[in-house]
Amino acid sequence: MQRTFAALESRVFDVLVIGGGITGAGIARDAAMRGLSVAIVEKSDWASGTSSRSSRLIHGGIRYLEHGRIGMVRESVRERETLLRIAPHLVKPLEFTWPVYRSARLPRWKLRAGLTIYDLLARGGTMRPHRSLDPDEVIQREPCLRSKELTGGAAYFDATTDDVGLTRANVTSAVEHGAVAVNYAKAESTTVSAGKVDGALVSDQADALRARVSARLLVSATGPWQARGTKGSHISVSGERVCNRGAVTMLSPVDGRVMFVLPSGRQTIVGTTDIFTGESPDDVRASEAEVSYLLAAANAYFPDAKLTEADVIASWAGIRPLAAAPYGRNPSSISREHNIVRDSRGMITVTGGKLTTYRSMAAGVVDEVMRSLGRSPVAATTHEHALPDIDGAVA
Ligand SMILES: Cc1cc2nc3c(=O)[nH]c(=O)nc-3n(C[C@H](O)[C@H](O)[C@H](O)COP(=O)(O)OP(=O)(O)OC[C@H]3O[C@@H](n4cnc5c(N)ncnc54)[C@H](O)[C@@H]3O)c2cc1C
Repeated sequence: MQRTFAALESRVFDVLVIGGGITGAGIARDAAMRGLSVAIVEKSDWASGTSSRSSRLIHGGIRYLEHGRIGMVRESVRERETLLRIAPHLVKPLEFTWPVYRSARLPRWKLRAGLTIYDLLARGGTMRPHRSLDPDEVIQREPCLRSKELTGGAAYFDATTDDVGLTRANVTSAVEHGAVAVNYAKAESTTVSAGKVDGALVSDQADALRARVSARLLVSATGPWQARGTKGSHISVSGERVCNRGAVTMLSPVDGRVMFVLPSGRQTIVGTTDIFTGESPDDVRASEAEVSYLLAAANAYFPDAKLTEADVIASWAGIRPLAAAPYGRNPSSISREHNIVRDSRGMITVTGGKLTTYRSMAAGVVDEVMRSLGRSPVAATTHEHALPDIDGAVA
């Protein structure tokens, strides 16, 4: 795909999308597929924000059941099924082992009940239902797990993805449907005419160029650059050292939060943290305290790993753009749902959401775009068409 900054001034677009994370990319694809003329600008590389710092799970979010977010879990498992269908090269089933120890915050009966609801919400799909495991079966699956006080567990399916690849595939698909997509292009300010936003001044981050992009409607999808959020960090360590065979769901020994150990080639990824932050998304990093928190969980479940800070191969952090007000003191209990707001100057801003639900969220945004433009309603078709297999070919 050619990067064509000059094309941004070639016409008046129906919609200009600001932000090339999964949210903006999904909106650009959907809008282009509904026949709108679309431009999307990203100030850095595609998916360089939170969309490259996720746990790469396309998941129902079993932990949200604890907070009664049934509607959100239902939408997430439906989207999981859609993405497995339209992007089998990017989204693959992943089986998790969830070991349960004596006096765990979530005892076996509660886990069984939660996973049964999870299966019911996903019925009709392709995922196999969960299985309860006795302690021997847990250890057969994951021989390096701590066996002391193990009371059993469960095996259940979710899915894993390449978050950057998924974002790029959406950008590529948008371009295939006529969109102009330019990375390293920063929206510096909006332009206003007769009280309505009618475009943006965009600067080329690669050259000293500027463009005035004209559009009937602007959509801001700049994630944590426009909304408050919570910080989440991961570390990667040697897979041989942890010796996990697959994905393992853990409860933090510090505060009982749901966490994961995830296989990644020869490494194992441990994540995540979830803390309120005032840090800028431009230079957010995992703190020492977060690294200790992640190591504590891995060592509690895999005691022979004896991991220390010196064993950390890499650490990284991102900020979850959150939409809703907290309904608990715990950041992990904050809703991952999204808000679509149209302001008095006609600009649409979308905040919140998850990687998993990006497609349905984009459909909601483009419905609002069509209404705002006075176009007759056309339903989204993004769930019907496969995402391209680009092999990292986006510029
Ligand atoms: C630690 C962590 C783990 C997560 N794990 C999962 C998971 O496993 N599964 C899941 O479903 N969700 C997960 N999430 C949530 C998910 O990653 C986010 O909801 C999603 O990536 C947000 O995408 P976005 O496009 O809204 O934001 P971003 O990806 O941050 O994109 C916003 C983009 O806007 C650009 N931008 C900002 N200002 C401008 C400007 N002026 N001009 C042009 N461009 C601009 C930025 O450069 C950025 O690329 C996780 C989040 C975190 C933090």
